[in-house]
Amino acid sequence: MQSLFKPTLFSPPARCRLALSVLVIAALAACKAAPLAEKPQTPPPAAAIPIPIPSPVPVASSEDEHSQKFAHWIDAFKTTARAAGIGKATLNSALDTVRFLPRVIELDRAQPEFTRNVWDYLDSAVSSLRVSRGQEKLAQLRPQLDAVAARYGVPTEVLVAIWGVESNFGTHVGDVSAIDALATLGFEGRREEWARGQLLAALKILQSGDIAREQMVGSWAGAMGQTQFLPSAFLAYAVDADGDGKRDIWGSVPDVMASTANFLVQSGWQAGQPWGTEVRLPTGFDYTHADAAVRRSTEAWATEGVQTADGAPLPALADSAILLPAGARGPAFVVGPNFRTILRYNNATSYALAVTLLAQRLANGPAVRAPWPRDMQALTRSQMVALQTALNAQGFSTGTPDGIAGPATQRGVRQYQSSLGLPADGYPTLDLLQRLP
Ligand code: CA
Repeated sequence: MQSLFKPTLFSPPARCRLALSVLVIAALAACKAAPLAEKPQTPPPAAAIPIPIPSPVPVASSEDEHSQKFAHWIDAFKTTARAAGIGKATLNSALDTVRFLPRVIELDRAQPEFTRNVWDYLDSAVSSLRVSRGQEKLAQLRPQLDAVAARYGVPTEVLVAIWGVESNFGTHVGDVSAIDALATLGFEGRREEWARGQLLAALKILQSGDIAREQMVGSWAGAMGQTQFLPSAFLAYAVDADGDGKRDIWGSVPDVMASTANFLVQSGWQAGQPWGTEVRLPTGFDYTHADAAVRRSTEAWATEGVQTADGAPLPALADSAILLPAGARGPAFVVGPNFRTILRYNNATSYALAVTLLAQRLANGPAVRAPWPRDMQALTRSQMVALQTALNAQGFSTGTPDGIAGPATQRGVRQYQSSLGLPADGYPTLDLLQRLP
């Protein structure tokens, strides 16, 4: 997992990930850093263990001074970790060789100007190569994958799809030391308290003997292994499924699959229920109803004229929403509780769509039928700020302009669209920006 992203209906996320949880730990969302433009998001409620630690250290005036401050911070963290039950041997082996990683700070602070459209993201996340690789994995590993799927009540194809999107079936787990990355972020990242909680969780994992320090690798933001779990998610959900006594999300496919399934089940996955399906909306559909917060049974949607894209009956979902990931001109979906459960793994609509659409393809189901509005350009960060600022000035409140298309922006855009008599899908476009004074 890596940096956090703002949950939004239309932000194309990259390989973000989140691990989060529920039970004991408050939800944290993190994403994997990435080649994609992502949206930095508000810090998740920090996890479990509030860790009083020395106050943040200002930027050092010299490299030496910075190194000294980092070393001092590590010493202070050791004291805190000792008090939290980490033994001396674990602390020394984990932190005596710890390195500050300047690149991690650069990535943590990056605010990409360019963002990707959801269709561009899906083109790569659900490419035909990805589909065929997933089918090869299914053919090779079917008995063991089906055994995990049956034990947890999560379809094999969904588990393989998450595996594919998270780490390209275990081939891209990242090579950054989790301890080094989290110590760096705990020392001077944007979310120091959060990172310190994750660092402490990582030390607990080392102390449990599940993995050695050198093998505990992942993304720059601390997401680890083939499931890209943050340490807190590992502690809450990782499973030793192959019986060797270690929860190995780096090297054991059974452990990877069972840990992923366990995460989903503990996050509310409902066995036997489809995620949703692509739909066609009737002429005159009220687009203000295409909102994650407007939930109805699929039966109720049917009475509004919503039909499946292929003419089959709508799946029976008690609590579903209409999703327009590219606005009214693009494909429409009806999504139920299991789609929302995938968002617990990584809180980005495009991520959840990638997983569900890839799973559908792996199960020999269809690709998306309706065309994406490929002529539309994604707004850059500056254009999004300009749109938000202009909407605010016209009385269509979007909150503080931050360049991120979150729910407040969607509301403001809907109001503006309604005032113009346009379909109020809440989707920010260059056309709307150009119409504004
Ligand atoms: Ca194991």
